[in-house]
Amino acid sequence: MDDSLRELYQEVILDHSRHPRHFGPLEAATHEGEGHNPLCGDRVKIYLVVDDAGRIADIKFEGKGCAISQASASLMTDMIAGRTVAEAEKLMDGFLHMVKGEDAMDLVGDDRERLDIMAGVSAFPMRVKCATLAWHTMKSALEHGMAAKTT
Ligand code: ZN
Repeated sequence: MDDSLRELYQEVILDHSRHPRHFGPLEAATHEGEGHNPLCGDRVKIYLVVDDAGRIADIKFEGKGCAISQASASLMTDMIAGRTVAEAEKLMDGFLHMVKGEDAMDLVGDDRERLDIMAGVSAFPMRVKCATLAWHTMKSALEHGMAAKTT
């Protein structure tokens, strides 16, 4: 990667972390998940509304932590909103493979291009935990639904 491309990637990450998309609580959530990365101190909460057709009709997140963790959460919510649960799971698996430096054949086209800005973290194991926090939290939200919510 040449220097100008690297700069661009950093700008996108910083932009997401400074101006996160889909940030805030979601009262009507059907699914929630909470994640913590103790190595870095990152925290993230994911709220989802899954409709009867299995589509993720709305998604929001709250959290604080390093730029990578928050940018990854922002990017994820932006990409997953409006997809079906099955499509979201495919995207999550592809992303988790990619940032671990593994084969991510599922990740193609625009998805590949948008997530490529995170691919650089695979060289930094500590940063992989930051980048994957929101995605693991999303997975657990889909698996456990509202089980953790006491209302
Ligand atoms: Zn972090």
